[in-house]
Amino acid sequence: MTEIHFTIDGRACTAKPGQTIVEAAKANGIYIPVLCNYEGLKPVGSCRICTVRVAGRYMAACTQPVTEGMVIENTAPDLEDMRKSLIEMFFVEGNHFCPACEKSGNCELQALGYRYQMTVPRFPYLWPGRELVADPPLLMLERNRCIQCLRCVRGVKTKDGRKVFASVQRGPRVTIEMDQKLAAKLSEAEARRAMDLCPVGAILRKETGFAVPIGKRKFDHAPIGSDIEKGPGR
Ligand code: SF4
Repeated sequence: MTEIHFTIDGRACTAKPGQTIVEAAKANGIYIPVLCNYEGLKPVGSCRICTVRVAGRYMAACTQPVTEGMVIENTAPDLEDMRKSLIEMFFVEGNHFCPACEKSGNCELQALGYRYQMTVPRFPYLWPGRELVADPPLLMLERNRCIQCLRCVRGVKTKDGRKVFASVQRGPRVTIEMDQKLAAKLSEAEARRAMDLCPVGAILRKETGFAVPIGKRKFDHAPIGSDIEKGPGR
């Protein structure tokens, strides 16, 4: 298999043919933040948090394959500020009250807020009114926290392959719908996986909550990305 050579922020890296920039960066111990991307799901490049710059052009690193000789900018100050502004937009566009959320400490958006030292967003809060769906026996959908990453649409299916979640409408009206009949067929393990797949606290497993206290959860121990940033020069 031919090895591909490329650089990220001046650091020499190698990739396997077909690897995306996000995958290759990870394999080289370099963290590129993602929200809509999830290992095993087809990348869609919808959140744009992973945007990098290649030869002056902006690209979604989760969908763009690495090519020979690519020179990638990942941590230029303007790129990092753009990512921070996207994180701020996610916070103001929904209703996120971290201290009261079951996903606090396991939430990727919250963890990115900490990583990018978000304090007061530069945009006004929109305070949208969104409906909660809590009828299925095992799951609830708290749309106030949804960031429309579409992980659930791509990854939560019944045993016979039917999609439990769907995205309806477009633009600012986009909404995630949960098929309640299909959701009712999910097993305990499948419901738990759906909750884990959601990067925020929008999909929650019902009946059990706060089994692990806030302060003892994944990102309470180590910042997001620290599991990847182990390569040379770190
Ligand atoms: S419910 Fe969760 S996984 Fe689904 S689109 Fe919203 S944030 Fe993403």
